[in-house]
Amino acid sequence: MTIENKLYTLKYNPDTVSHLTPDIKQCKKCKNKPCTYVCPANVYEWDSEHENLVVNFENCLECGACRIVCEKKSLKWEYPKGTKGVTFKLG
Ligand code: SF4
Ligand code: SF4
Repeated sequence: MTIENKLYTLKYNPDTVSHLTPDIKQCKKCKNKPCTYVCPANVYEWDSEHENLVVNFENCLECGACRIVCEKKSLKWEYPKGTKGVTFKLG
């Protein structure tokens, strides 16, 4: 089964506010922007024209990889509140 097919088996109940808060000042200074290629759900996109990190937090799988690799250790990462976020189905 491909990663794309596995992603279709997840259930999302996205919050209205992001649980992922990058420090844009640090992102602008971040050389490699590893969050933009480590995330299995492509949550982060660097907008070079506006020098901004776009965060598609609704797609987050809550794996925590972006927090670990953040080059500037400046990404505020929380679990979505209450019943929000992703649900992993068994089987
Ligand atoms: S790795 Fe961290 S500092 Fe670099 S762009 Fe991503 S969130 Fe910003
Ligand atoms: S926790 Fe995982 S899925 Fe969510 S944004 Fe970070 S790397 Fe992507």
